[in-house]
Amino acid sequence: MNVIFLGPPGAGKGTQAQQVCKELNIPQISTGDILRRAIKEQTPTGIEAKRYIDQGQLVPDEVVIAIVKERLAMDDCKNGYILDGFPRTVPQAEALAQFADIDAVVELDVPDDHLVQRLSGRRVCLNCGATYHVSRKQDNVCDNCSHELIQRDDDKPETVLSRLEVYHKQTAPLVEFYQNRNVLKKIDGSQSVDAIFAQILESLRG
Ligand code: AMP
Repeated sequence: MNVIFLGPPGAGKGTQAQQVCKELNIPQISTGDILRRAIKEQTPTGIEAKRYIDQGQLVPDEVVIAIVKERLAMDDCKNGYILDGFPRTVPQAEALAQFADIDAVVELDVPDDHLVQRLSGRRVCLNCGATYHVSRKQDNVCDNCSHELIQRDDDKPETVLSRLEVYHKQTAPLVEFYQNRNVLKKIDGSQSVDAIFAQILESLRG
């Protein structure tokens, strides 16, 4: 099953994608995680991407499309995958349609005021991509892999607002794009993590 997780930053795409991937035994492909790894390793793509990410802007379509095309061609994607954070623009969705058949698009719907609160307290593990909220974490160490947790530069308040604006302008049109293709499954992302997880599985199996 080839699935896209769509939703604003902080909607819980990463958290849910990680759990659903484990359940369905398919890989999670997060363009944000791939780009952050490239930045850490200072590859040419990482150096270019950093300029955009730090400002809360989108990395150019050609760059992310090439990354995803290469990744989906790998063996572990043969039985399906979850795309987390891609596509984020209509041109990305159009490009994806040329090299992938998408079975379902899960839209996580969360109001903006919840998102600001979630993003500003978010801590991430750069090693495995797990995310936590400061209010529910006593230490600063990843439960999965024991690496240190950090606050992403783009989760700082000034950048969060531009990311939300970018989402509404550039990514939200994808809701209609996939609705027109009859693959959209809208989920209320302000529920508990467990309730959202159960609804996603039901919508994918139903
Ligand atoms: P994320 O971890 O999904 O929130 O992504 C972090 C940042 O990486 C975004 O704010 C963008 O700057 C960049 N990024 C990730 N995925 C994409 C994409 N599909 N298109 C453009 N930029 C992206």
